[in-house]
Amino acid sequence: MRFLALLLLVSAGAVFAADDDIVGFNASASTSQRALEEQLDSIINADEMDEWLRRMSAEPHHVGSLASKENAEFIAELFESWGYDTEIVGYEILLPEPKTREIELVAPTSFTASLREETLAEDPSTAVRETLLQPYNAFSIDGEVEAELVFVNYGMPEDYEILERYGIDVTGKIAIAKYGRSWRGIKPKLAGEKGAIGTIIYSDPADDGYGAGDVYPKGPFKNDSGVQRGSVMDMPTYPGDVLTPGRGATERARRLKREDAPTITKIPVLPISYRDALPLLSAMGGEVVPQEWRGALPITYHLGPGPAKVRLKAEFDWNMVTAYNVIARLEGSEYPDEWVIRGNHHDGWNHGASDPLSGQVAMLAEAKAVARLAAAGHRPLRTIIYGAWDAEEPGLIGSTEWAEDHADELKEHAVAYLNTDGSARGFLGIGGSHVLERYLNQVADDVNDPRADISLKERSRANRMITGDEKSRSEAKNRKDLRISPLGSGSDYTPFLQHLGIASVNVGFGGEASDGSYHTLYDTYEHFTKFKDPGLTYGATLAKVTGRATLRLANAPRLPFDFKGLADNVALYVTELEELANGMRDKTMAENQLIKDGTYAVAMNPYTTFGPPLAKDPVPHFNFAPLKNALSRLQEAAEAFDAAAAENDAATEEVNKLLYTSERLLTREAGLDGRPWYKHHIYAPGFYTGYGVKTIPGVREAIEQREYDKVGPQIDIAAEVLNDLADRITTLTDML
Ligand SMILES: [Zn+2]
Repeated sequence: MRFLALLLLVSAGAVFAADDDIVGFNASASTSQRALEEQLDSIINADEMDEWLRRMSAEPHHVGSLASKENAEFIAELFESWGYDTEIVGYEILLPEPKTREIELVAPTSFTASLREETLAEDPSTAVRETLLQPYNAFSIDGEVEAELVFVNYGMPEDYEILERYGIDVTGKIAIAKYGRSWRGIKPKLAGEKGAIGTIIYSDPADDGYGAGDVYPKGPFKNDSGVQRGSVMDMPTYPGDVLTPGRGATERARRLKREDAPTITKIPVLPISYRDALPLLSAMGGEVVPQEWRGALPITYHLGPGPAKVRLKAEFDWNMVTAYNVIARLEGSEYPDEWVIRGNHHDGWNHGASDPLSGQVAMLAEAKAVARLAAAGHRPLRTIIYGAWDAEEPGLIGSTEWAEDHADELKEHAVAYLNTDGSARGFLGIGGSHVLERYLNQVADDVNDPRADISLKERSRANRMITGDEKSRSEAKNRKDLRISPLGSGSDYTPFLQHLGIASVNVGFGGEASDGSYHTLYDTYEHFTKFKDPGLTYGATLAKVTGRATLRLANAPRLPFDFKGLADNVALYVTELEELANGMRDKTMAENQLIKDGTYAVAMNPYTTFGPPLAKDPVPHFNFAPLKNALSRLQEAAEAFDAAAAENDAATEEVNKLLYTSERLLTREAGLDGRPWYKHHIYAPGFYTGYGVKTIPGVREAIEQREYDKVGPQIDIAAEVLNDLADRITTLTDML
């Protein structure tokens, strides 16, 4: 899986004179570092990456398969041959694989879903049958249910509000939902909370199919038999092995019983193609769906319930399998106890050419170049650890188990974690901890786009200049760095950032190629090299970006952490929270008045056939003062540090340790309300969005979910973490 948002650099700006020095390096150190990076570029070879990609995507290689183990061994051999201290570390994890998958329309007509993806003559990889992992949603519970269908749009909280206004209740029904808008696991989670007894998820051709563009093999989009596989584990509660939350899934680990694992769904769920969805949806009656809910199938979409009645049966083999992480280490010459960690998963749902191997081969190209430079006398000052993770697809399992297993050492030694996953052609997207915003901007400024003769940063800036909203365009006048996106979830950075408080980064290219092959049989070498990144041009560029990112962290005399950018982004989030509360208060007040006056219905679009909402509790005024006071302290401390850092390039191990452990101060051992595994109080995946980030999540989700009595205590916790960080920054300033 993968974070799908593409326009991750969200600011445009005028061109500033580039600072010549790399943050954390003085003038002469910057010059030699840049010279080293030019050598790095010359070692990166797209043809070799292409060979690795072809080899590793030849067979389906999901966790637990023979091909996944062989790929882990191949990756380990490469690292070993380049001089890394390499080991394959196994974890014993619970993995459901499909045994029975049945969806049958039993009334008013009959139809049996094929649940089968077709072989294409144009793509020989799709001829595989024996080792193909059939379409399913991992960590659905076993079950057989029969009930009327209700169409729930994307299955998001706001969709259920609309259904309530139609007077439609999903209790005892099967919810049919479109893929998209949220992490897929939210769909069965919410349907179950609302009383549904089963869920079917399909990709509508409007979003991913002939409504979006030509379908595979003519174009990149989903053909009518393509099915998106994927995990539906409740990852916003905790990712990783469902039986061992908070600890490594070693052979002897204490395990939950499967029936007690809270992250397995409560109701059965299966994914289908739009070919299989069509007869089900055509047989539905009831009201016509609202305009915005309509897809691109040649039917009138109805909400139900029924008369379409469906039997859904899903049974799985619940096996214990071994996830094979490859861990490769290059000991630092000066600071071996400071670790830069760099990862990308290697397991795919099937051939996984795009997801994850396009990112994996970029990491391998980077690692080879770093090792060659080390052998030529440029050994990195800090230790670099490469992690090629297994079992990311079913729920970030390989990385999470390793991070949990080594939690204490990592909290002590980890400087930062750098992640990639599937990557294509297009714009450079950067998400990450905002202490690294400055450093990432410099990296993006020092690598050119492979087709346009401008830096990646300036290309993204230009894009923002024409596509940004008014606010981001006006920011261009005042802001030298492009904002990087805060991280939610969807790839392996989550355990490092949100569980352990390690500053993290996620980078990748995208935006010019469709994602129609995502988690289907069609994510093949043929599809990838034809449509997503022909010649691996952007893949090679990604290796140059991450190679710089890794080496600058490994070699910087003073670690390139910057607090001004962080404070500026946190200020934005605090403003957003106040605006959120004020907006909800005004809207609730106005709506309640209209409902009371009986005039709500006439205020709606006359073609809207659903009724007014129920009146909601008024939104109280909250006291944001503690948070705003803490923010002021953080801003002042960041300014003072910035001024001191500009005048003084002193760097001691003590300073560096206080720098890289500063992100830990944003966590609390007790974690977030109701989900203690997530310990970071600035970044978390949304409890009801899954991939999408919630910044200052304790406060934001208490407001959004209308749990008003929780807002004050959450403001106090957020203020406390910011105050702790401000104190740390002041200590650092005094040391410079
Ligand atoms: Zn992935």
